[in-house]
This record gives sequence, structure tokens and C-alpha cells, in this order.
Amino acid sequence: MEQKPPGYTSASNADDLTCQQATALLVEYVNDTLAPETMRAFQEHVRDCADCLAYLRTYRATIRALGTVRYEDIPAALQERLLSFLQTRLTRVPQSFPDGRDPG
Ligand SMILES: [Zn+2]
Repeated sequence: MEQKPPGYTSASNADDLTCQQATALLVEYVNDTLAPETMRAFQEHVRDCADCLAYLRTYRATIRALGTVRYEDIPAALQERLLSFLQTRLTRVPQSFPDGRDPG
């Protein structure tokens, strides 16, 4: 008879972030102001999400180039560029809508 010890469950985090959440956390992550748990969730997201990872890298490269880690210090034009970059990615996510309309 097989019996699994109690408490031995497969790791399943309910703290999955969406891309938009990750994006919102990105600034704080780079500033190192996230709570440890949140930072962990963020890191797990970017590990599996190429889009957010690319965004993070772009953001970090930008910060290095500008020599600042404050989002407010980044020129508005560049902020828009970064955001549009991600939004383009997000809007290109394939949606599984049925290809047919209800004649209603
Ligand atoms: Zn993502």
C-alpha cells in the first residue's frame, strides 16, 4: 500500500503574476524595493516569460545608460517607448476566441 506523507504536495504557487503585474513590479524590482515574496514571484515570472525578461533587460540597459535607477528620471519619451514595446508584445498574445459570431 502506498501512502504519501502528509504535507508532501507538488509545488504549486498561487502567486502567479500576469505580465501586466510583472511590468508594474519591474520598476520596484530594479530599485530593489520589492518584498522578498513579491520579488520571488517576479523572478519566477520573468524566468518563464521571455517578453517580460526582454522588457527587464531593456529597462536595465536603459538605466545603465542613463546612470539612474529612478523611473521618474527616465525621459517620458523613453518611458512611452518601453511601454509600447511591451504593449505590442502583450496585444500580440494569441487569443483563443472561437472564430464565429453568435447570430443572436
Ligand atoms: Zn510576462
